[in-house]
Amino acid sequence: MNKEDLKKLAEKPQFIQGIYNYCDRWCERCPFTSRCLNFAMDSEEFADQEAQDINNEAFWQKLSETFQMTLELLEEAAEQEGIDLDSLDVEEYQEQDRLNDELAKNHECSRAAKLYSEMVNDWFSSAEDLFAPNDEEPNPEASADVRDGDSTEIVSGFGEAVEVVRWYQHLTYVKLMRAIRGELDERLEILDEFPKDSDGSAKVALIAVDRSLAAWGEIRSCFPHNNNDILNILVHLEQLRRKVEKAFPDARAFIRPGFDKIDLNS
Ligand code: SF4
Repeated sequence: MNKEDLKKLAEKPQFIQGIYNYCDRWCERCPFTSRCLNFAMDSEEFADQEAQDINNEAFWQKLSETFQMTLELLEEAAEQEGIDLDSLDVEEYQEQDRLNDELAKNHECSRAAKLYSEMVNDWFSSAEDLFAPNDEEPNPEASADVRDGDSTEIVSGFGEAVEVVRWYQHLTYVKLMRAIRGELDERLEILDEFPKDSDGSAKVALIAVDRSLAAWGEIRSCFPHNNNDILNILVHLEQLRRKVEKAFPDARAFIRPGFDKIDLNS
């Protein structure tokens, strides 16, 4: 796809502008694939099976084309906005970047999110017998034993809960890092009248935590007699949720294009 094709595609009215900026990238589960330019581009680029292999030459070719197209669009935007792409104070940027990275990594929310990722890994390692050998699929026999009821329903609920936990396990940390880093950058700018990208990222992180809490609740219900580890995870997640809400008090109110509705009464 070249620059002109992309522009034509982007002009189609069905797409919600910027919807992919504040989503969780779980396209398989997304109710807005038909309204997402990012998804349309990926579908078009990866339409043939061959190109889906990350090691395939077509993948790198596509990346190279995207690079060229990005440069062209960037040059166009820089010219329109009067930005000098040749002027760069590398040392000042690097130092500020390094400092912001450190601050973001050491923020209590990102540290808690990282710890959560590790707790998830620990739990999955300790619960290996609940999964089919060499797989992350739940083992029907093991999971069906732990709770009364229809085993198919339990396995499906358990399996989907595991899927949700795994999807958001690292995304929470990534989105929080972006929120915290973004918030540090925003301090240097006067953006009061605009919604803050940091709040948008924090909202995605909060949604990831909410869904993870729900998923762990489902997993916990499969282990009525031995669920202390899961309770620890739930407590940690809830503490993280509260800390993020405190650090980003406007995050929940952030309107994500497509996903959230504007409240006309407020
Ligand atoms: S908005 Fe939906 S389809 Fe688009 S990138 Fe995000 S998850 Fe995928």
